[in-house]
Amino acid sequence: MGTASKGSTERAMKKSLHTKLISVLGLIAVVALVPGLTPTPVWAVVDCTPFLLAEATDPGTDADNDGFTDFQECNGITLGTTTIPLCSGLMARRACVDPDSKDVFVALVRTVTPPSLLSAPFDPVFNSTSTFDPFAGLTPLGVTPHVVPPELLGSGRQVTATQKAIKFTESQNTNVDYVGICNYGTPLDLDGCVIYTLKAKNFIDSVCNSAGDTRLECFVYVAYWTWIIQHEGGHTLGGLVDQSLYNARFGGYHYKCGSNVTMEQCVTYTTKNNIVTWKIPPAAWTDSDTANLLLK
Ligand SMILES: [Zn+2]
Repeated sequence: MGTASKGSTERAMKKSLHTKLISVLGLIAVVALVPGLTPTPVWAVVDCTPFLLAEATDPGTDADNDGFTDFQECNGITLGTTTIPLCSGLMARRACVDPDSKDVFVALVRTVTPPSLLSAPFDPVFNSTSTFDPFAGLTPLGVTPHVVPPELLGSGRQVTATQKAIKFTESQNTNVDYVGICNYGTPLDLDGCVIYTLKAKNFIDSVCNSAGDTRLECFVYVAYWTWIIQHEGGHTLGGLVDQSLYNARFGGYHYKCGSNVTMEQCVTYTTKNNIVTWKIPPAAWTDSDTANLLLK
């Protein structure tokens, strides 16, 4: 589908979303601020003070529209024995939750047998460190990811009573026609994001081997897996690509090949003198993607 002259576009979607929720941006619950009584930073919109009282109950307001209520985020979100606290002071944003900006929980279910491929430290394209963190690239989209162990989630991926995590499952099945799949929707919709790591690795190997490129730099597994996860995640973060841009020639909710954005579908390469040059889409989101981000 949509294959470039030399390239692999191995993608499919299980389901199209027939209805689209209307994002109510700017709907902000303003709780009266009490000057001098609270350490709430001046830029904060939600005042957590009333939610932290012993007798407080959850009114269900969700100022940032991320599926976690203000009450939940003000009190920190606990999964198992781990609590992700309310942001304050100099905390790293990814170490805390914030009622004023979006948070999403993600879990990666690695294969055990055979051992997961998702721990490789080598990443020449993205030049990452030794930690495989495909979710870091979601931040510019306007949502802070929190990676949690999948065993802390129930079978329904529930994080709180109101929101679910996105779960990515690694598969080393190669008997598929694509390297990743995910439903178009939000974290509250259907489960089913799968990344076919071995299928992706085999593609890289076959290209490098047939070109006679033995350089380590040819084997861009991590870059490829990272892009697949970010891309598939995009499909379940509201779909991102505006429904008006649906184009069967690009495989549905994708931008055209060569757009150099995450939500295009094309990994391409050129070969010259036994050197393969890969072009894997970067973690790059459009203004439309940002506007279409939807978490519930
Ligand atoms: Zn896609």
